Amino acid sequence: MKKNPAPLIISFEFYPPKTQEGLEILKRSSSLLNQVSPDYFSVTFGAGGSTREGTIDMVKWLGREANTPVAPHLSCIGFNRAALTDILHQYKALGVKRVIALRGDLPSGMGSIGEFKYASELVTLIREETGDYFHIEVAAYPECHPQAKNAHSDVINLKRKFAAGANSAITQYFFNPDAYFYFLDECAKQHIFNPIVPGIMPVMHFNKLMRFSEACGAEIPRWLSKRLEAYGDDVESIRQYGMEVVYHLCQRLMAGGAPGLHFYTLNHAELCMQIIQQLDVRQMHMKEVTG
Ligand code: FAD
Repeated sequence: MKKNPAPLIISFEFYPPKTQEGLEILKRSSSLLNQVSPDYFSVTFGAGGSTREGTIDMVKWLGREANTPVAPHLSCIGFNRAALTDILHQYKALGVKRVIALRGDLPSGMGSIGEFKYASELVTLIREETGDYFHIEVAAYPECHPQAKNAHSDVINLKRKFAAGANSAITQYFFNPDAYFYFLDECAKQHIFNPIVPGIMPVMHFNKLMRFSEACGAEIPRWLSKRLEAYGDDVESIRQYGMEVVYHLCQRLMAGGAPGLHFYTLNHAELCMQIIQQLDVRQMHMKEVTG
């Protein structure tokens, strides 16, 4: 028996709130989640109509309020090199050490793609402009990105992002652990051995989850959607059942050797806290493994 030397990477994703009430919720959530000593809080960029300034302001705010490192997301679509470089230098000045580099999505019918078509080009830009300063995370899709030509080309795209200089990846959320483990097998066949941290979506609302999943290409298994749908407006039962499902998913991922867990909090901490506490993640940081 020997100690597993690699600690689990635990992170929580927030989005910049648009209202004072939203900010209050975020304050409570970040202070609660601070208690589990996460490796970092990430802040989305441009998702759900938030602005570039919203992300930068929230990075500054979390940097002051939370004693957890902050990792901003940065998406390149619709931006030029000068604007992206400017943001990177602002983050560097703030002491940010990790960024999540994405392509992003243009709202339908709005604007032009700009100079950058793919996230791999953003990774190249970050390395060109800031050398090895940032730890770069990229996105990975165990159930395949909706616009990918096929599953194989999507894995090749991930390889391209690592070749451009990314360090590790976070996945789109999924509820079928086999999707993740088969994806890792496919990555290994392409000699991709960088850490790929599963993205975890706690279940809070049935309709929102279905809508969101449709848009981002995450599959909700029929057994899960049927069960959640049957609860109707009974939000408490949806959360309770969702909790059980997500807890068991995390357990299987950790038992299978996932390098960490990245929680899509949607700015709410309670379910994430319950899952983390039940998993006793920090205890498992130094879990015993046979060697
Ligand atoms: P890419 O890696 O560029 O891939 C996009 C598509 O193009 C894929 O289908 C890929 O297979 C294909 N592709 C890539 N390169 C090539 C090539 N050379 N030739 C042909 N096809 C190619 N969105 C936001 O707007 N803000 C956020 O903060 C945000 N955070 C996210 C965090 C995580 C962890 C994840 C998983 C997603 C996040 N997203 C966010 C969503 C993301 O921006 C979208 O999924 C977007 O559609 C793709 O981004 P990407 O970085 O994966 O793009």
